[in-house]
Parts: sequence; C-alpha cells; structure tokens
Amino acid sequence: MTKTAVITGSTSGIGLAIAKAFAKTGANIVLNGFGAPDEIRAVTDDVAGLGSGTVIYHPADMTKPDEIADLMATAAARFGEVDILVNNAGVQYVEKVEDFPVEQWDRIIAINLSSSFHTIRAALPGMKAKGWGRIINIASAHGLVASPFKSAYVAAKHGIMGLTKTVALEVAESGITANSICPGYVLTPLVEKQIPDQARTRGITEAQVVSDVMLKGQPTKKFITVEQVASLALYLASDDAAQITGTHVSMDGGWTAQ
Ligand code: NAD
Repeated sequence: MTKTAVITGSTSGIGLAIAKAFAKTGANIVLNGFGAPDEIRAVTDDVAGLGSGTVIYHPADMTKPDEIADLMATAAARFGEVDILVNNAGVQYVEKVEDFPVEQWDRIIAINLSSSFHTIRAALPGMKAKGWGRIINIASAHGLVASPFKSAYVAAKHGIMGLTKTVALEVAESGITANSICPGYVLTPLVEKQIPDQARTRGITEAQVVSDVMLKGQPTKKFITVEQVASLALYLASDDAAQITGTHVSMDGGWTAQ
C-alpha cells in the first residue's frame, strides 16, 4: 500500500530532504512551507520526479490552527489517512530573555511547538483506524541542552520532547510510534550562505568559521547533512523501528555528550 507522508516546512533544508527521501520510496507527499510561487512549483516538480507517488503542496501557515487543520484535512481527503507525519517547520530568534520580543516568543512557540499538537491531533484518528502510524518530530540538540539567547527556541524544543513522549504513551498499543530527532548543526542552505559572509566580517578563513565559530560546540567539527537526518527519519518510519517510541535519537556530532 502506498504510504502518505505530510512534512511541515518542507520547501527547504531538512524538511525538503526528508520529503525527497520519502518520495524515493514511492510515498505520496504533502509538502508545506513558504516560498515564491515559482520556487514552490519547482520544488514540487523536483520531489514528484523522484518516485511513483503523488506530490501536492499546501500553504498552511504553522502559526494558524485553522490552516493547519485544512492541511491535514486536505491530505486525508486526497490520499485517505496520513501514515507518516513529520513535524519539521521551525524558526529561530536570538536575543537575551529580557529583551526578547513578545511577538517572537509567541511565533516560535506556535511554529516550533503548538503546530505539532495541531497536526498530531488531526492525524491520530486515521492512524488509529489503520493500526499504523509514524510521528517524527524534528526537535534539536536544543531539546536536550540550552544555549544563551535562544529562550523561545530552547523552550519549544524541550516542549516537543515532552509532547513526543506523551503521545507515544497514549498510542503505544495502536501500532503508532512517536519520536523526536535531535540534530546538532546541520548544513542547510541558510547556514551555507553565512559562511563566506562571516569569514569576510571576522577576517578568518571559511574553514575557521566552520570549526571555530559555527561548530565550536560540535565535537566532530563537521556539519550534519540534511541527507543524514532524512535517512534517520526513513528508519524511524520503517517497520524495523516499531519498538522505538517515546524517545529521541540524537544526531549531533557529540554535542550533548559533553
Ligand atoms: P529552513 O529554514 O531551511 O526550513 C524551515 C522550513 O519551515 C521552510 O520550509 C520554511 O518555509 C518553513 N516555515 C517557516 N515558518 C513557517 C510557518 N509559519 N508555516 C509553515 N512553514 C514555515 O530550516 P532547517 O534548518 O531545515 O530547519 C528545519 C527544522 O530542523 C526546524 O524545526 C529546526 O529547528 C530544526 N533544526 C535545524 C538545525 C540546523 O542546524 N539547521 C538543527 C537542529 C534542528
């Protein structure tokens, strides 16, 4: 049976790599995220070209519960129920806590945490009816440890770890698993673009920006790739991973071992 995967925030970075990995398995894919219409068309065509499943795009804004409900209802109406839900959409804002803008706090909690509550509650009845489902939440090393100036992000990522565990316990006997992936620093286009700029402004080499600035806290001194995260998501969605639930898998180059 063709599986259907909804991946939030999949127009770029980790979400797009996960969408591509699932598309290659023949799954139907529901893409979501922001971008210019021609970019979104190109991404949709690209992902559709990778496998035999159908690929659609839904523009739901993850700060808006009614749009999230429409995303999930659209997926169910188009493909039957959702088999695999990847909660990936996420944003960051960096400021000390007493100066942290209230609207940024609310936005980050909405996108990085509450949106997953809304997608999960919509997906579960269908998964329960089928007796099979996979919920994969893209948390972060910041779901386990903190860094200064990232209060909303760290709070949301710790929150998603708790939501993951609670959901896993509630559906443990229904053939559904819920897990988080906790990546360290992943080389996404956004990060890649910052390397030459930082080298210029700091007067150091690009290699020094990577090892001494960006990957200071990541013992391997290497970025994680989006493909590595996607491959872990594929594994967590497999039948082999049926007994992994209510937990997280770190892929952080040793960051949280320190
Ligand atoms: P990215 O900026 O490349 O992608 C984020 C995606 O989310 C994009 O598709 C964007 O359009 C979408 N998005 C943003 N706001 C949205 C909204 N309101 N509604 C719908 N979609 C929205 O980022 P990324 O680095 O690929 O991050 C993906 C996830 O991985 C995030 O949850 C992030 O916290 C997590 N993560 C990233 C890293 C890293 O180093 N890149 C490390 C750990 C965890």
